[in-house]
Amino acid sequence: MIPADHPRYRSLVARERLAECARAGIVALEGLGAHGRGEAFDYLLGEATTASARRAEETAAAMLMHAAHPVISVNGNTAALAAGAVADLQRASGALVEVNLFHRTEERMEAITALLAAAGAAVLHGEAERLLPLSHDRALCLREGIVAADVVLVPLEDGDRCEALVAMGKTVIAIDLNPLSRTARAATLTVVDELTRALPAITAACAAMDDGRAGALIAAHDNRRLLQEALDAIQERIAHALD
Ligand code: ATP
Repeated sequence: MIPADHPRYRSLVARERLAECARAGIVALEGLGAHGRGEAFDYLLGEATTASARRAEETAAAMLMHAAHPVISVNGNTAALAAGAVADLQRASGALVEVNLFHRTEERMEAITALLAAAGAAVLHGEAERLLPLSHDRALCLREGIVAADVVLVPLEDGDRCEALVAMGKTVIAIDLNPLSRTARAATLTVVDELTRALPAITAACAAMDDGRAGALIAAHDNRRLLQEALDAIQERIAHALD
């Protein structure tokens, strides 16, 4: 029996939660595969936040607090795992929350919106339009939300949309445990950490942020270095895995 304070216990609880949300139609079946990929990378990272991820989380807070129109884009996996943490980050940062789905149906949009609202998030409503240059339904978004945003937080993103948002001139903050994904490499800032550790850390950093610190973090930011540090952390763990 794994004790409740063990990181593996958290990961088993998360897996159960996703399965339950998949049965309820909140998480797409493809989302379970994406979660499995995340779990594998988290295992390689020791299921803990690295020092460079901690710096990325602080930088994410700086970018959100510095933004004129920040938006948190939420998909099914994010809502299932972290609806309360999204609501907390919304309160701390003043960001709008918009639901954006690859496998979009009215039922899923409603179920995810209801889950977020029950957790205390104020979800942006409106007539979604096909405003991103993408062939699939992630192109659908709100003019007053993602389209107007200067900074977009995209937890668990796909590479296509991340690249499209960056090409539109937006500052894109990704949360992705895979430092090699297209999303991780295309984003302005990638937090290589597990979603349920990353969001509360960003929220806490928002509360402690001041203008001087925010400016210094943004000026010093180098995403390639953050990704290299994540890869170095994985390599280091593998090198000593059997010791
Ligand atoms: P890309 O298109 O960016 O190359 P991909 O095909 O892996 O990436 P998806 O299948 O959409 O994209 O997967 C989303 C990403 O989210 C994966 O890279 C996975 O590592 C990551 N991920 C999944 N679950 C979590 C989680 N709980 N916390 C952080 N990252 C996660």
